[in-house]
Amino acid sequence: ESVVYWMRMDDMRIEDNTALSQASDRARELGVPLVALFVISPGDYRMHDRSTRRIDFMLRNLRHLKPKLDHLNIPLHVVSFDKRLSIPRKLVTEVFPHLKTTHVFVNIEYEVDELRRDIATVKLGRANGIDVVCLHDRLVVPPGRSRVRRGNRCRCSVHGRGVGTVINGIRGVVLMRFRSRNDPSIRNDTHFGKLFDATPIPDQVEGFECADRDQIAEVWPEGTEAAKELQLVSPLSDGAEHDDKNSRVQQYQTGRNLVDGDNSSKLSPYLASGVISARMVLAEARKLNKKGKLESGRDTGLGMWVQEVSWRDFYNHVMSTWPRVSMGRPFLEKFADVQWEVDEDHLNAWKEGRTGFPIVDAAMRACNKRGWMENRVRMVAASFLVKSLMLDWRLGEKHFMENFIDGDLAANNGGWQWTASTGTDPQPYFRIFNTLTQSEKCDPNGDYIRYWVPELKHLKGKAVHDPFHNMPSNEFKKLGYPAPIVDHKQSRERALFRYKNVGEKE
Ligand code: FAD
Repeated sequence: ESVVYWMRMDDMRIEDNTALSQASDRARELGVPLVALFVISPGDYRMHDRSTRRIDFMLRNLRHLKPKLDHLNIPLHVVSFDKRLSIPRKLVTEVFPHLKTTHVFVNIEYEVDELRRDIATVKLGRANGIDVVCLHDRLVVPPGRSRVRRGNRCRCSVHGRGVGTVINGIRGVVLMRFRSRNDPSIRNDTHFGKLFDATPIPDQVEGFECADRDQIAEVWPEGTEAAKELQLVSPLSDGAEHDDKNSRVQQYQTGRNLVDGDNSSKLSPYLASGVISARMVLAEARKLNKKGKLESGRDTGLGMWVQEVSWRDFYNHVMSTWPRVSMGRPFLEKFADVQWEVDEDHLNAWKEGRTGFPIVDAAMRACNKRGWMENRVRMVAASFLVKSLMLDWRLGEKHFMENFIDGDLAANNGGWQWTASTGTDPQPYFRIFNTLTQSEKCDPNGDYIRYWVPELKHLKGKAVHDPFHNMPSNEFKKLGYPAPIVDHKQSRERALFRYKNVGEKE
């Protein structure tokens, strides 16, 4: 007999892993071996627009974990099923019997297809005498478990009643929960014997060959240790006290809105794949405060960062409470009827970074080349697609998922719906980003633009933000850079009209 820990593509670590530590306890209790199972599911990856970079990162992390699990006497068993809907049956009738197990532990994935798969596995397992235990682990505050004082704008409560729709509530709960939490961790002693040897991990998943794996691996090496190191060199930790004005974490408060340097943690690929947990990064951040406290809010850099991490919890709460958002529906149903443009040329210009708006083009080229963007330019590029080109936000959501190494349904969908004004944020639809102003604010010297848009690398001063309107036309033509594909003022009016007249055709 054995106990199985079923690892997912979003909990790829040994430390602070609820399902793994409970599986380990059960194996020890029963005196039987512990096996780690990983299911590669290309059908799921296709269905969910997974990027080749994210899948490659997943395989790299698996390879990294394998010897560590081996060391703990936990063989890693990897199977691959292309047909996603067949997974519950295959597991219960083939894999679990092969692993001689009737005890399986998993961390819950809150996306709707994944929940359906798990419910089917639990039911089928039960009918076959196999106990599949699903546990909360991804978030600091499990969905539906948070409670905020009455009177607060956000009231979250058990069983989904009154779940909050603004961030204010959840960040408070993140702090409360965090303080009271004892992090589970796997004990270091060896498990009882081994029933199986580890199985090989494929070099790549068919259909998800990552063309730029070496460059991406250089920026984001696999493994929890790499994530911890990154946090140590990130703005969050430079040895200075968090309330020291010159500390980098204090500068995060304004720096997070800039794109011309190393201003944020760049931990998102690790958090999205669960290579490090949100609890672990908060525990590290807490050390920056000599009183050993965490705080959240806009007053300090540390507080601001904790708030950003809380957004991750928040959007997962939204997704699990209103599953329609993971099925392509707007959170605010009335915006299901916004009239979108259908324009392949504009969509391709946006995707390829050829819109004639330098900050948008720089951001999109960064997305395509590096698989990652700073938060501010994610918002600028998204707002441009939705409000300036009037293209459906779901097209952008898909493109980001297909390219990002940190592609994560809840955060990506939350970010897109926030920008499209169809989401939970109270931001009204008529607040529309001015691309030029945003560009001057987030890239004041234009270095980000010059780096990603080499056609503009010799431009001096403010012209780099808007070369078309700041250069004689014959000079502009020599750049080989496109003219703006829309007029900002006109497109703004069109967006206002379309949003205001939801449900009415022009
Ligand atoms: P830091 O500023 O150092 O923040 C620390 C961590 O907090 C991040 O790593 C992330 O896990 C979390 N976080 C920060 N901001 C947010 C946020 N707004 N929503 C949710 N979590 C947040 N984030 C993803 O992880 N995956 C995505 O696919 C994704 N898509 C996005 C799409 C759009 C249109 C927008 C506007 C935002 C998106 N974000 C996404 C959120 C955010 O842009 C990134 O998490 C952040 O830029 C990552 O950089 P960092 O790790 O340096 O963040």
